Amino acid sequence: MRITPRKEEIEAVKALLEDPTFESADQMAKALLKEMGEILQMREWVALVHTWKDGSRGLNWAPFGNTAEAESFAKKLAIGGTGRLVKLYAPGVMLANVDGKKGWKGWCLHPECGHSPFTHSLASAARGACQIPTCPCDKFRK
Ligand SMILES: [Zn+2]
Ligand SMILES: [Zn+2]
Repeated sequence: MRITPRKEEIEAVKALLEDPTFESADQMAKALLKEMGEILQMREWVALVHTWKDGSRGLNWAPFGNTAEAESFAKKLAIGGTGRLVKLYAPGVMLANVDGKKGWKGWCLHPECGHSPFTHSLASAARGACQIPTCPCDKFRK
């Protein structure tokens, strides 16, 4: 799982590391792992889908951070058959389109919105109101 950390991911982890309210290292470690889970759910991955030589369904592996990583894994894996790469979309992004991702960079920073740019009206170049029915956001905020 090769990843290049993104700015908003580093910010989210830093916020936990600098949070003075944790009472123990255990508590902080748990919070960090949960945060990492959420962060990784916001990414897209690559899966290697394998078929045995006789055409029967093989073994599948995931997640890989990119196609190069999956390909290099496939080369080391000398079990025969064929493989193909499949893109895995981010369930966190899907959920954030409904629930919002508050304070997440790249998503609307309106305090009650947190939805992705494309849920906002494209009526003007400045991006208009959020189109999620329950959302009070009147303008996309960067
Ligand atoms: Zn919204
Ligand atoms: Zn918004």
